[in-house]
Amino acid sequence: MSSHGISPDLLDRFAAIVGEKYALRGEADLAPRLIENRGLYHGSSPLLLKPGSVEEVSEIMKLATETGTAIVPQTGNTGLVGGQTPRTGQADIILSLERMTRIRDVDPVANVLIADGGAILADVQKAAEAHGRLFPLSLGSEGSCRIGGNLSTNAGGTAVLAYGNMRQLCLGLEVVLPTGEIWDGLRQLKKDNTGYDLRDLFIGAEGTLGIITGAVLKLFPQPLGHQVAFAGLHSVEDALALFNLAASLCGTSLTGFELMPRFGVEITTRHIDGVRDPLEAAYPWYVLIDISTSDSAETAERMMNGVLEQGFEAGLVQDAAIAASVAQQKAIWHMRESMSDAQKPEGGSIKHDVSVPVSKIPHFMAEAEKAVMAAMPGARICAFGHMGDGNIHYNISQPIGADKAAFIARWREMNHIVHGLVLAHGGSISAEHGIGQLKRDELAAIRPAIEIELMRRIKRAFDPAGIMNPGKVVSLEI
Ligand SMILES: Cc1cc2nc3c(=O)[nH]c(=O)nc-3n(C[C@H](O)[C@H](O)[C@H](O)COP(=O)(O)OP(=O)(O)OC[C@H]3O[C@@H](n4cnc5c(N)ncnc54)[C@H](O)[C@@H]3O)c2cc1C
Repeated sequence: MSSHGISPDLLDRFAAIVGEKYALRGEADLAPRLIENRGLYHGSSPLLLKPGSVEEVSEIMKLATETGTAIVPQTGNTGLVGGQTPRTGQADIILSLERMTRIRDVDPVANVLIADGGAILADVQKAAEAHGRLFPLSLGSEGSCRIGGNLSTNAGGTAVLAYGNMRQLCLGLEVVLPTGEIWDGLRQLKKDNTGYDLRDLFIGAEGTLGIITGAVLKLFPQPLGHQVAFAGLHSVEDALALFNLAASLCGTSLTGFELMPRFGVEITTRHIDGVRDPLEAAYPWYVLIDISTSDSAETAERMMNGVLEQGFEAGLVQDAAIAASVAQQKAIWHMRESMSDAQKPEGGSIKHDVSVPVSKIPHFMAEAEKAVMAAMPGARICAFGHMGDGNIHYNISQPIGADKAAFIARWREMNHIVHGLVLAHGGSISAEHGIGQLKRDELAAIRPAIEIELMRRIKRAFDPAGIMNPGKVVSLEI
């Protein structure tokens, strides 16, 4: 046995499937694959496999099931809940689809694109654009995350309001099961009521049911009009009223409605190169409004002017700037997307990716602030996010001068406070990042026993040997 508890012979058998060149065992090669973005998890693994075809993935999974070897799918390694990180002290083999990056087909008439599971999201967007189409999934990590990971986390991002999350953007899947069997479900149908929806089981399963090797994705017309505005407001209540106004004036043309606090704007302008506050005065809250229209540029302009004019008249908007160029639109979005990074130089940050019904956001925010400040005086709350989807990244930066380690040690305690209020408002403890290792035990504690038991039964049915990303999402040990 090797130090990882897996025999060198078995490692050789796995390596032979992909060829030595694509079977990495060196510490330096593996090191970046053993940690995730936030440094919360540091796993161990004896081997990283990079198969070049669906057949090779199938051979790997057959051998894994036969020998009881755990496999962890990892594509872009941008996940935020430790789902792609191998377990600590175990012999999980990492399977990466980074060689399987083909855009298999783009059909602008049928409005579909078929991609390998390892295709990078930004490349899929570009391929759609080259055919005059839009693939609307857009995330801060789009230059590195890959379609298999996006589907497995049911990624959301900045345009969910208009286009839905990854579940709504996918028509069909190709999946290699833990047993090595291949399911070709690459269908292109909008309507297909033929029994249990297997596709929907794999989407959001975080690699616990199979390896997604290909997908049929939905495309949309490229918008002809696009407007982005940044508005300063007095309160979250005003943001909610403005959201309802914008939604009724713009309908499905309202593509994004993002909420940001003053603290978030301060730290992005302080720490992120090129970010500046577009407004002269400071306001307690801000919203980013994104409108895109498929008929004409004038429609988008008219809609944005309408939202802001009526917002001013109703006393909801205190000041606003409309981006006058594509560069200015990007600059406003850059400020919003840098909000997580800007917290790093401010010390420790305890994160929550939660959702509540949109109408409950003001109540939730007020109660959470009261409870957090009572538990930790001096905490600096950076609650921002996709307000139109009810999704708030409720982040808490450490009090100025606090000890970072002591602050981070209170992660679970603060989660308990924030998640308790989220649940009291009928919300979810994971809006878009998933469960992974981070929230597995909490999920089991808060969901009805029957729900967790059904998840366990599904897991056992798909993965009888228990080798598919074990220890993530749902534990089989009761
Ligand atoms: C700067 C930044 C911004 C982000 N913004 C957003 C955002 O706005 N919205 C959002 O939803 N997320 C966001 N994320 C989180 C992350 O980018 C997404 O979850 C993304 O979808 C993960 O894709 P990935 O290829 O990196 O997957 P990985 O991190 O490699 O894996 C994620 C999960 O999917 C599984 N998996 C990966 N590939 C496969 C496969 N082929 N088959 C089966 N299972 C697989 C893994 O085992 C793991 O459980 C952000 C992350 C960063 C770093």
